[in-house]
Amino acid sequence: MTLILFAAPDLWPDYEPHLAPALAAAGVEAQIVTEAPDPAAVDYIVYAPSAPLQDFAPYSGTKAVLSLWAGVERIVGNRSLTQPLCRMVDPGLTEGMVEWVTGHVLRHHLGMDRHIQNPAHLWQPGGPPLARARPVTVLGVGELGLAVARALQALNFPVTGWSRTAKEIPGLSTVHGPEGLVQALSSAQIVVTLLPRTPETENILNAVSLAHLPRGAVIVNPGRGALIDDDALLAALDRGDLAHATLDVFRVEPLPAGHPFWAHPRVTVTPHVAAATRTSSAVQVIAENIRRGEAGMPFLHLVDRSRGY
Ligand code: NAP
Repeated sequence: MTLILFAAPDLWPDYEPHLAPALAAAGVEAQIVTEAPDPAAVDYIVYAPSAPLQDFAPYSGTKAVLSLWAGVERIVGNRSLTQPLCRMVDPGLTEGMVEWVTGHVLRHHLGMDRHIQNPAHLWQPGGPPLARARPVTVLGVGELGLAVARALQALNFPVTGWSRTAKEIPGLSTVHGPEGLVQALSSAQIVVTLLPRTPETENILNAVSLAHLPRGAVIVNPGRGALIDDDALLAALDRGDLAHATLDVFRVEPLPAGHPFWAHPRVTVTPHVAAATRTSSAVQVIAENIRRGEAGMPFLHLVDRSRGY
């Protein structure tokens, strides 16, 4: 069985020591290559969407393309990609996302900036309410959103989750669809966006939907930049309708120098660092999917191309 890795060259040294042992532990005998003279003979492609490969047609014998990224918007519409496409669902990535979101939510909840940036050395009494009095909405309750919702609930935040389809998740208040969005935003003091980028989610936070948020709400976006209408967000921040936006992802990355987000006093920019795929756990996911493919079992984490995620 031949597996090819298509990713930035600097990723290979990270994966090389982990991938072969993970495959061996899964009982899969594999030849791992980074170049394929005969593409039709490649069984599996491990793929980072930043890789130059765009034409998958020559890989006619390939049983699956295994993405190293959770978000697949860059390849899901690629017409030459007819092989099954699996996205990355990596426990290490999820753990990182939970930590990043929890940290940024707590920053805003506790009002940490007031004390960290206090050049006049003002004695500012008055602490925050308890988390139980700070409703948080998580847009998207898939792998990442649900883990984040659970972590915030463990800190006593009342959490509402919004998804495309109706869900019954024990202990979590959930809503769905356009009406659910209005409901989810109307009560939220902090909104976390963990939706995939699809034609339906593009600009889901726009002038109309942002207006449903209570005054002083905060947005934390580690999902995708295109989920938010930048101009509408800036206008809401300028008016003081929103207190702050912490943004990890942008329409153009790196965020161009001079973009208004960089200098805005109510915006925090982080450089797409919320949650990286973690090599040591990701190789286990890849190995398990290949084991399943070789055993004739259905792949895990298959992308549904019709819905785009
Ligand atoms: P996932 O498991 O596929 O979950 C996606 C969630 O979004 C699901 O709950 C889904 O609803 C919901 N959704 C999709 N389209 C919707 C719509 N039109 N209306 C309402 N809800 C909708 O994805 P994930 O693994 O949690 O990842 C989410 C996103 O996080 C990724 O796509 C990626 O963009 C981003 N991400 C960012 C980083 C970072 O470092 N910043 C790292 C990893 C991932 P259903 O449950 O009804 O299907």
